[in-house]
Amino acid sequence: MAGAGAGFTATEWIWRDGKMVRWEDATIHVLSHVVHYGSSIFEGIRCYNTPDGPAIFRLREHLRRFTDSGKIYRMDLPHSPEVLAEACEKIVAANGLEECYLRPLAIRGYGSPGVNPLNSPVEVFVMCWGWGAYLGEAGMQNGVDACISSWNRMEPNTFPSFAKAGGNYLGAQLMKMEAVKNGYDEAIALGPGGMISEGSGQNLFAVREGIVYTPQFDGTFLPGITRDAVIRIARDSGIEVREHAMPREFVYIADELFFTGTAAEITPIRSVDKIAVGEGKVGRITKMIQDKLLGIARGKYADPYGWRWPVKVEAGVA
Ligand code: PMP
Repeated sequence: MAGAGAGFTATEWIWRDGKMVRWEDATIHVLSHVVHYGSSIFEGIRCYNTPDGPAIFRLREHLRRFTDSGKIYRMDLPHSPEVLAEACEKIVAANGLEECYLRPLAIRGYGSPGVNPLNSPVEVFVMCWGWGAYLGEAGMQNGVDACISSWNRMEPNTFPSFAKAGGNYLGAQLMKMEAVKNGYDEAIALGPGGMISEGSGQNLFAVREGIVYTPQFDGTFLPGITRDAVIRIARDSGIEVREHAMPREFVYIADELFFTGTAAEITPIRSVDKIAVGEGKVGRITKMIQDKLLGIARGKYADPYGWRWPVKVEAGVA
């Protein structure tokens, strides 16, 4: 195992439907609809420390996906994207964090115990915590060991893959547990048609002969915001990017392979099913993209895309 994963640190405050509540008071009733039927939608967002103070990476795009997820599940969010953006800024400032991971979450709460979710109220939380490299610092530097999962991703028109919904992560948990129990860091799943889909919480990229490949939208994986950032950075660096169906064996013969995600950032993959990726070392294009993306996020480089969202609110819980 290249990385055992990163620990996490509790913070003090959680935003709950417009109010700041203490971390330990952000509780829900056991009969809440979400506990029984997985009826939640959420986001994962990172805030980076920049020379101008904390900046949330691609907040607008994450909140767009959050409202999209709500729309797909007929979950009317009781707060506008503007209010949610302010909540995100407030929670970072209130907890006094410079770098953290933010988790906006909407659940179907305590209402009716039946499957129909429409009779249970929607409750919204925004929390954050300090979270290091998702697959470990060593994994970020040297690459992680992945396997092809025996679990497939969902078929289109079953669980909507464009929604970042709690229930979707049951499959991801099966993939992750199987991988970890078998001594791997992470799993890569195939879609129902046998083509590469994504990791348990990451999209996947391959590089071969200087061209960057990633699966095209096929209804089996989440449209990652980091995925989109990587495609734009690569193209703007003069690298050809092809969104393309990828058979399983493509990852065995790739020169470079990496996961992308908010938590995982750009995590190189050094082997799949114990077959070394390229020379088993982090590749040149992977490193360049890792450096550019994190460089923009942390304010080391200019931000031509408008991806940094500075945290402007003052610290405090008012
Ligand atoms: N796929 C899945 C299943 C995920 O959970 C994530 C993390 N949100 C991703 C892909 C990557 O998405 P993003 O880059 O927007 O974090």
